[in-house]
Amino acid sequence: MIESLHHGAVNGVTGSCHELRIGRAESGAMGVCPRRDRPLVGPGLAVPDSHLGILIDCGLFQGQEEKQRANAGDLAIDFPIAHIRALIVTHVHIDHVGRIPHLLAAGFDGPIICSEPSAIMLPEILEDALKIGFTRDRSLINRVLDVIRARLVPVPYGQWHEVFDEGECSLSVRLQRAGHILGSAYVECDARAGDYEERVVFSGDLGAPHSPLLPEPVSPERADRLVIESTYGDKDHEDRGTRRYRLKQVLAHALADGGTVLVPAFSIGRTQELLYEIEGLIAEFGGFWSQLEIVVDSPLAAEFTKIYRDLKPFWDAEARALVKAGRHPLSFEQLTVINSHEDHLNAVEYLAKSHRPCVVLAGSGMCAGGRVVNYLKAMLDDARNDVLFVGYQAAGTPGRDILTHGPRGGWVELDGERYTIRAQVHQVGGYSAHAGQSDLLRFVEGIPQAPKEIRVVHGDDDAKAHFKRLCEDRVSGSSVLIPGSA
Ligand SMILES: [Zn+2]
Repeated sequence: MIESLHHGAVNGVTGSCHELRIGRAESGAMGVCPRRDRPLVGPGLAVPDSHLGILIDCGLFQGQEEKQRANAGDLAIDFPIAHIRALIVTHVHIDHVGRIPHLLAAGFDGPIICSEPSAIMLPEILEDALKIGFTRDRSLINRVLDVIRARLVPVPYGQWHEVFDEGECSLSVRLQRAGHILGSAYVECDARAGDYEERVVFSGDLGAPHSPLLPEPVSPERADRLVIESTYGDKDHEDRGTRRYRLKQVLAHALADGGTVLVPAFSIGRTQELLYEIEGLIAEFGGFWSQLEIVVDSPLAAEFTKIYRDLKPFWDAEARALVKAGRHPLSFEQLTVINSHEDHLNAVEYLAKSHRPCVVLAGSGMCAGGRVVNYLKAMLDDARNDVLFVGYQAAGTPGRDILTHGPRGGWVELDGERYTIRAQVHQVGGYSAHAGQSDLLRFVEGIPQAPKEIRVVHGDDDAKAHFKRLCEDRVSGSSVLIPGSA
């Protein structure tokens, strides 16, 4: 019996958590993959002793799902884990790793297997998550981080790693580049139960081809069963040329009138992609463009930018060629990093008054908190400034309100006060680090033999349904299902 189960959020793109379970089939029907269409939750569900499993990701719920699980206690692990031998981490976004402290608290004592870059970044991102959502107790945070560091097993891309081989059951995993953020991987699992063997592939989050910095994902050579994300299962992104042109237009506006371009961005992925693109524009156009100042006002984003910079062997060929040619895509001359809160407040005050063209990258990505809020308060009123959104803005966030009402002379409420929006507001859709619909389909169609089963996970209901239909139309011989739906 080889079975894939879904413990994560049922709807949306948050709280990813999957299980691959292997065991002797009680009915003796070895080799038959039972299909479980509903998420398996509830501590009452006992797992037979003969069964072993691994988890793929253990992420935190956000947005809608977060509100449904409003109490911290609801984040406690609510599925059996005594038979879980290892956790495989596809990448270090919080919706894929944020519940790891809860997994440890529930008694999980196995290794945490991930790519080499992820092993460097995971303690950093969890330290931040622990500070915000778990405890302020520094010594407790350090103890949790020490445990996590001790459990980390970095595995190079493309190498098989045996997780267990016990009696009739064995399992090996291999990580392949997913092109989503630095260190991201999809996971190939070779599972054996008695005479029955199966290759199960979990996509994690897949990146878009032609995104800056990272090589694009290559389809697996084999997948008997594929568990695939579908965040953008219903649409394609702007291509890189178009979004680079639009980014250039916004920056040109700042250069023309000495305004500030404010970019609300999360710490990992988009921030580094944007820095890379901006450095490219400055290098290409030179002259006047060299006056543009770039400020990263986020200690965490700065830390991840440094890690990105240190891990050049994981960059794509284009980025490495630039380095060879003497360029410094993530540490160029015009780039300033702000760490302390005092420097942050000074920067807000200075930039609001100055007439020097500047780009500020600060979190949070949806303006629901973080340093970006102080910039918004100081700058929304001035038409010289621009707000540039590069990521999805969820309903109910200030980011969504600015995007909706801003261009029509509206206002946004920040910390209980109304701020009139005179700044220009833009959205550039391509820097999402997620594959678009055609990219996802290409990933599936690139598998030489169509998977027997495709499970569509991780996305809004519409996106999943759309991608399911697309797979049914285009991939013959596969049974396509959405876990959690009727
Ligand atoms: Zn992700």
